[in-house]
Amino acid sequence: MKLISDVLIVGTGIAGLFTALNLSENLNITIVTKSTLTDSNSYLAQGGISTAYDVNDIEDFVKDTLHAGNFKNNPSIVYMVAKESRDVIDTLINFEVKFDSLNGQLLYTKEGGHSKNRILHHKDYTGKHVIDTLITKLKSRKNIKILKNSTLVDLIVKENKCLGGTFIKNNKLIDIYSKYTVLATGGIGGLFKNSTNARILTGDALSISLRYGIKLKDIEYIQFHPTALYNKTSERMFLISESLRGEGAILKNIYGQRFVNELLPRDKVANKIWNELKEKNCKFVYLDISHLDKNYIRNRFPLIYNTCLEYGIDITKDPIPVRPAQHYYMGGIEVDEFSRTSMDNLFAVGEVSCTGLHGNNRLASNSLLEGLVFGKRCSDYINKNISSQKIEVLKVDKNIDEIILENKNLFRNTLRKHRSDINDELI
Ligand SMILES: Cc1cc2nc3c(=O)[nH]c(=O)nc-3n(C[C@H](O)[C@H](O)[C@H](O)COP(=O)(O)OP(=O)(O)OC[C@H]3O[C@@H](n4cnc5c(N)ncnc54)[C@H](O)[C@@H]3O)c2cc1C
Repeated sequence: MKLISDVLIVGTGIAGLFTALNLSENLNITIVTKSTLTDSNSYLAQGGISTAYDVNDIEDFVKDTLHAGNFKNNPSIVYMVAKESRDVIDTLINFEVKFDSLNGQLLYTKEGGHSKNRILHHKDYTGKHVIDTLITKLKSRKNIKILKNSTLVDLIVKENKCLGGTFIKNNKLIDIYSKYTVLATGGIGGLFKNSTNARILTGDALSISLRYGIKLKDIEYIQFHPTALYNKTSERMFLISESLRGEGAILKNIYGQRFVNELLPRDKVANKIWNELKEKNCKFVYLDISHLDKNYIRNRFPLIYNTCLEYGIDITKDPIPVRPAQHYYMGGIEVDEFSRTSMDNLFAVGEVSCTGLHGNNRLASNSLLEGLVFGKRCSDYINKNISSQKIEVLKVDKNIDEIILENKNLFRNTLRKHRSDINDELI
């Protein structure tokens, strides 16, 4: 089957949705997802979205992001994102996203690595609320066609120019031709045994990029979240958000001793936990918030409270067994400040991209923000430049079975080469 669209967006997480909603309503857009509209990491996000509190906070926000990223970040990108953070939050509020507030004033929380309260949230299920709101908006747009349960398996390419993408839906191939193509396919947690990510996220676009020589960057930068709920049976590990530590939860070893400053950046806290697990020869440590007011805990963290209850843990009374798990990919497809990749007419937005914002360790709640800022920049660029572009249809014979097999292994094997230390964590 052949379809034609001005803009093709692959992925319905925050990056794909926000890009689509900021594109001109005169454009004909197709947005595709591998699974359902909500099977994404964005939907799972708990803690919130960081933003410069006000213009005076931009400098501190930049410092915190650079510090967490161990100064491997691109400082001009960090500054740009901090400066534009307020605008994208305002757009979300215009789209009817409701951040928690009191008497009309937005409530900001704090998480590890932030020197002040600058994270907006919707209880402890910010992602679900934001994505549900954006999907409602998306469905109201007549110019946007949604294609579900369709997996991108290949790009359509002519001389380093992207002409669209090839998808598989119900064992049938669909070629979608477009003037511009945006990859918003998210992270790589599906390649790991222990991960907080949606299991469908297997780095498909990264394998495809490797096949075409599209530049990747910082391949070795993988983030492990310090506190995933320890459980022997669950497939995806349930995240215990950083915001618990931001609001006073304490990490203790199996002997009940505190062993780390809970508000250090993620990599430092995760390393301390790995050491503790090795030294004490145990499988988990404890995160304890039971000293806070019970009603406050239940109201502020309803998702975590109820999910832990399902595992027999009452977090208002009991400490939570936790361990680190793969959580986020800082590396990805190298992009510039408009999310342009090294292939013409191809963009990458959100976790699949490497913008230079995070360095080698993402600061908490900076990922949703990155998807928003770069989604907006990418759509602005497309709105401005699309009139000079034409659809080109190309007949190519493909051995799809071979391509699918290659997609499955190419990026995983590349990761193995770059990170032999995490071989045991990969599936
Ligand atoms: C449990 C959890 C909690 C988090 N909490 C926070 C938080 O509080 N704040 C924060 O800033 N960040 C948080 N993060 C990180 C953040 O949620 C993600 O980095 C961010 O949502 C990524 O957005 P995205 O749009 O790039 O990708 P995603 O939201 O993961 O969306 C990826 C999309 O790509 C589609 N896709 C993938 N491959 C293909 C393919 N081959 N063909 C077609 N479609 C494809 C998927 O179907 C999906 O629609 C959290 C992550 C997790 C896992």
